[in-house]
Amino acid sequence: MNRNGLYDYFRKLDRSIFIGNEFKDMSSIDAPLPIGYGQTISQPSLVLEMTYLLQPDKKCKILEIGTGSGYQTAFLAHYAARVYTIEKVPELSATAKERLKVLGFDNITFKIGDGSEGWKEYAPFERIIITAAAGMLPDEIMNQLKNGGRMIAPVGGKGLQDLLLITKDKKGSIGFKTITKVRFVEMKGKYGWTKE
Ligand code: SAH
Repeated sequence: MNRNGLYDYFRKLDRSIFIGNEFKDMSSIDAPLPIGYGQTISQPSLVLEMTYLLQPDKKCKILEIGTGSGYQTAFLAHYAARVYTIEKVPELSATAKERLKVLGFDNITFKIGDGSEGWKEYAPFERIIITAAAGMLPDEIMNQLKNGGRMIAPVGGKGLQDLLLITKDKKGSIGFKTITKVRFVEMKGKYGWTKE
């Protein structure tokens, strides 16, 4: 995957579809915007960068934790074989599901629930992307990344986190690379900040 290809899809995909009426007119701004329930849609430049770092292809099964608006999910589903996406707020999951169906995607499996434990039933995954911030990477999720796979996740304090690229080589040795500082909403659930 190269960046130019990503930009082509970025130009095709109307971000305003993923934003409620209140903030729709701001959809072309490169900033996170509220999507209700205290959550936000990520800024487009970060969605593009995270997709690029993940390097999805049509042989990949991807686990996404934090469906949110479904905007990042669309990029993943466009490039991957199948996306398994988990969202803890039922209303956000339902809205994202409807939007992505209208866009014609038939390779996304949705789940409402706690993604901090990953999704054992469909593991291992060639790619994993976490779009909510945790204090540390849960072992449960690390174990669900296939050898030779890539994972991208914001890890750190509640205010500011490191965006980490985690790789597993063919033998299962793990590598970490810090990409940049990011500000994501907090991950909740069993291995998140709050257990609700
Ligand atoms: N990529 C999304 C970002 C959404 S914000 C977008 O661009 O729209 C992160 C999302 O993670 C929120 O919707 C939040 O409800 C969800 N979330 C937080 N903790 C979670 C958990 N433990 N399991 C599943 N989803 C979670």
